[in-house]
Amino acid sequence: MQPVSASPAQTEDLATRIIAGERRALARAITLVESGRADHRAQATALLDRIAQSGRQALRIGLSGTPGVGKSTFIEAFGMMLTAQGLKVAVLAVDPSSARSGGSILGDKTRMERLSRDPMAFIRPSPSQAQLGGVARRTREAVALCEAAGFDVVLIETVGVGQSETLVAEMTDLFILLMAPAGGDELQGVKRGIMEMADMILVNKADGDLKPAAMRTVSDYAGALRLLRKRPQDPEGFPKALPVSALAEDGLAKAWEEMRTLADWRRANGAFDRRRATQARHWFEAEVREGLLARLTADPAIRAKMGALGEAVAEGRTAPAVAAAEMLATLGN
Ligand code: GDP
Repeated sequence: MQPVSASPAQTEDLATRIIAGERRALARAITLVESGRADHRAQATALLDRIAQSGRQALRIGLSGTPGVGKSTFIEAFGMMLTAQGLKVAVLAVDPSSARSGGSILGDKTRMERLSRDPMAFIRPSPSQAQLGGVARRTREAVALCEAAGFDVVLIETVGVGQSETLVAEMTDLFILLMAPAGGDELQGVKRGIMEMADMILVNKADGDLKPAAMRTVSDYAGALRLLRKRPQDPEGFPKALPVSALAEDGLAKAWEEMRTLADWRRANGAFDRRRATQARHWFEAEVREGLLARLTADPAIRAKMGALGEAVAEGRTAPAVAAAEMLATLGN
């Protein structure tokens, strides 16, 4: 799908159609924000500025888990449950591996087959982009577009590798970890930083033979979460660990109820808006940083000087700090 060309009238038209909930317009706009072309970027920025006036807000939920833990099964079952309640659900993905494979975790048509046919749902695969920073920007902007299009819940899925969890936690209202039932001493394998980001841990596959192990895992994680920290902005008992079975569609309503309790509580005490404000500031600063770097590398003279100084540092002729000071002094002129 080609992004539309960039007259103000066309941008206005696209914005109007997005706000009217037209899926094709939404898909087209996401293609536009994914584009690396300068003229597309300018139109994307104009569009984002325009749709910000819609004032609509979705509940943004991040969901992370290792491959095979049941993310797509969960999102399909959870998403279908929400759409059955009359909620509009958008699913986006942050896929750090797509940069390498050129593929996409949501690209496989067999994933979320029922949800993808649901008129109340919108599923957008992760684009293959070289940099995680680019994927982050595109996902943030896609979230804004989905909100303007009137989606009630935006789910952002990511595979539990590298820095993608941090990225997703920094663009969502709730961050959920999906875990598998573990044997006795597997729990230590979860990185502390990820546990600290989690607003809720769902232990999936709590069904059949796996159920006893899942229940043990739930209480292990519940204990670990209690030890980690208290969150003054959250109600007593949070963050929680709960058992679910995406396959048997069991525990999903309870999980949703807990997510809503947490979100409502934070809305009431201001933590919800504060978190969004902090995130907005963070992404603003990230954009400025990225823009500055892009400008630097676009200037041939600066690139040449960076290259020369880099070589001098690599060969031990200049200390890194000295070279950096020289580079910055050049820029200051
Ligand atoms: P993803 O890689 O995290 O997206 O995982 P998938 O959703 O593709 O699921 C991986 C495998 O686990 C599939 O064979 C699923 O059928 C299975 N699975 C997913 N959820 C459950 C569950 O709740 N219970 C059981 N027993 N199996 C599940």
